[in-house]
Amino acid sequence: RSILRLEGLRKSYNLGKPNEIEVLHGIDLNIGAHDFAALVGPSGSGKSTLLNMLGLLDAPTAGELYLLDRPTARMSDAERTALRGAQLGFVFQFHHLIQAFTSVENVLMPLMLTNGKPSQKDRDHAIDLLSEVGLRDYVDVKPSDLSGGQQQRVAIARALVTRPALLLADEPTGNLDTKTADNVFELFRRFNKTLDCAVLIVTHDPRLSESCDRTITLVDGRIVSDELKAGSSVSQ
Ligand code: ADP
Ligand code: ADP
Repeated sequence: RSILRLEGLRKSYNLGKPNEIEVLHGIDLNIGAHDFAALVGPSGSGKSTLLNMLGLLDAPTAGELYLLDRPTARMSDAERTALRGAQLGFVFQFHHLIQAFTSVENVLMPLMLTNGKPSQKDRDHAIDLLSEVGLRDYVDVKPSDLSGGQQQRVAIARALVTRPALLLADEPTGNLDTKTADNVFELFRRFNKTLDCAVLIVTHDPRLSESCDRTITLVDGRIVSDELKAGSSVSQ
């Protein structure tokens, strides 16, 4: 089953007429339901721009992006936002937790944005996720009383609370020391299996990308290689 499928996707930025700069030059890509993939490439190659497309944060200039077989390129912003909220989870380098909220309140945020007041069942689900990332005892603690690694684990629980089909992570360990980064990476690996959630990680860290099942390399707005590790299986 395909989660995301890109066909001839192009993205240009308009820097005021007549200056238009094309950053992505016709990307074809398929992300399967069980993928555990890294997106790598030099600075300026278009990774952030591609991630914005994959995450339905911005629309392509040309081509098509199917999310669960639904064409999204010509959707309204409202449709795109709804689909994003239902199917995609995000983890960023800087976790963007709300400082005034406790861990569980932060984890519940995406559900509150889509459904309003969370139910007891939602709360239980959020607490289960916090337990799975090793934060059972920190449910009612605010971010300022957590370490950087703990805060990133809250952000991961938050990204998963809607049971997304795909988790998109932008330099999720960029700000962490090696050991903490490894722990966070192991969580992605675990949730990829236990929650059956596809994972795509943008990273500059070769240690991280080498640990993924698949490495997609972007150079100058084109995919120059897309390699599957020996022993990994493709899901289409
Ligand atoms: P990466 O994440 O791989 O560093 P980006 O997607 O951030 O690459 O950038 C790719 C190219 O697109 C760069 O030349 C960058 O300057 C340009 N770019 C990115 N975002 C914008 C924008 N909003 N407006 C204009 N140019 C942009
Ligand atoms: P990174 O690739 O490390 O995430 P970048 O510096 O490439 O960071 O981009 C940071 C943000 O700035 C992105 O959202 C990108 O779209 C935007 N951006 C990058 N280059 C430009 C540019 N030339 N003009 C406007 N926005 C840009």
